[in-house]
Amino acid sequence: MTTEKVIRSVPKVLLHDHLDGGLRPETIIELADQIKYKKLPTQDPAELGNWFHRGANKGSLVEFLQGFEHTVAVLQTKENLERAAYEMMEDMHKDGVVYVETRFAPILHTEKDLYLEETVKAVLEGLERGKRDFGVGYGLILCGMRNMKNTLEIAELAVNFRRQGVVGFDLAGEEGGYPPKKHVDAFQFIQKANFNITIHAGEAFGKESIWQAIQWCGAHRIGHATRLLEDIIFDDEGSVFGFGDLAQYVLDKRIPLEICLSSNLHTGAVDKIENHPFGILFKEKFRVTINTDDRLMSDTDMTKEFLTAIKYFNLSFDDIEKININSMKSAFIPYKERLHYIYNVIKPGYQKIREQLLSFKTTEGNNEETVRKL
Ligand SMILES: [Zn+2]
Repeated sequence: MTTEKVIRSVPKVLLHDHLDGGLRPETIIELADQIKYKKLPTQDPAELGNWFHRGANKGSLVEFLQGFEHTVAVLQTKENLERAAYEMMEDMHKDGVVYVETRFAPILHTEKDLYLEETVKAVLEGLERGKRDFGVGYGLILCGMRNMKNTLEIAELAVNFRRQGVVGFDLAGEEGGYPPKKHVDAFQFIQKANFNITIHAGEAFGKESIWQAIQWCGAHRIGHATRLLEDIIFDDEGSVFGFGDLAQYVLDKRIPLEICLSSNLHTGAVDKIENHPFGILFKEKFRVTINTDDRLMSDTDMTKEFLTAIKYFNLSFDDIEKININSMKSAFIPYKERLHYIYNVIKPGYQKIREQLLSFKTTEGNNEETVRKL
C-alpha cells in the first residue's frame, strides 16, 4: 500500500473548509452556462482549475480572495447551493473524511433573489442528502464578513438554525484593518446563546488578532493562528525556550488551532511549508488540527494536506490518528456524538489499517518501523 493510499483510507476529520472555496471546476462551468454568466476565464475544467490555483498562489490574501468572485457568482440560487453542498459531501467521502464542518457566508449569496434563511436551508439540504448517500457526518458554520456591518444578523441566523445542523459562527474575510473586536456584538450574542465560535485570526495579521479573537470575542477555536509563532520564545539554537502569555494560554486551555498548510503558503502567511509553525506547535503539544481551507484554490484535499505534513514534519501513523482525534474532540457537535466518532469510527479505522500494514510483506523488513515512519 502506498503512503497516499494509506492516508486516503484512514478516517479523517475536517473542521475548516469553505463551501465556496471547494467547488469542482466542471460544476462551475456548468452552473455558469445555466445562468449565462460570461466572466469565466475558460470553459475547460482542467484549465479553470489551474487558473484558480495560479491566482491563489500569489502570496497575498487579497489576491487569493479574488477567485471567489466566480464561485460566489454561480451560487445565487437554492438549487446551486444545494448541489455544491452535496458534491462537497461526495468529495469528502472520496477523500476519506468521516466528519466535516464546512462554512459559508450567507450574505454573499443574496445578490439575486435569495433571503439569508433560504441560503442556509439550501446548503443544509445538500449536506443532509450527502450524509444519507455517502455516510459522512457534517456541521455547518455560518461566516460573518469582517468588512461588513451585519455580523450580528448572521450570528442570530446561526443560532436560529442550531437544531437544523448549524454548529457555529465564524468571522472571515480580509484581516487587515478589520479587527475581530469590531464585531463584539455578534460574538456576545453567540456567547449568551451558549453557542460556538471560531474566528479566522493570525493569518495575515499579528498575534493581537488571535488575542482579540479569544479574549474579546470568546473564540473556542482559531482559524489559522499562524502568527501565534510571534508569541513563542526561541533560544540561540532555535529551540523553544518559552511562551508568551497568549501562547501559554492557548496551550493550557487546549484551544484548537485550525491549521491550513497549503492555504497559508498560497496566501503568503508563510514563505515555505518547512517554515510553517505547525511543526513547532505540534511538537510543543498545542491542539493542532489539519485542514484544507479552500480545496479548489489550493488544489488540495485532506489526503494531500496530510501527505504534506508527513513530508515536511515527519509525522508518523500514530501522529495522524492523534491529530484526527484532536480534530474530533474540537468539533462543534455534542460531546456524545464526538465520542461516537472517536470510539466507533476513527480508532477502529486506524486499527484496521495498522493491522493491514503490519501484516504487509515488505522488502524493507521491519514492518513496525514502516508503520511508525510511514
Ligand atoms: Zn478559511
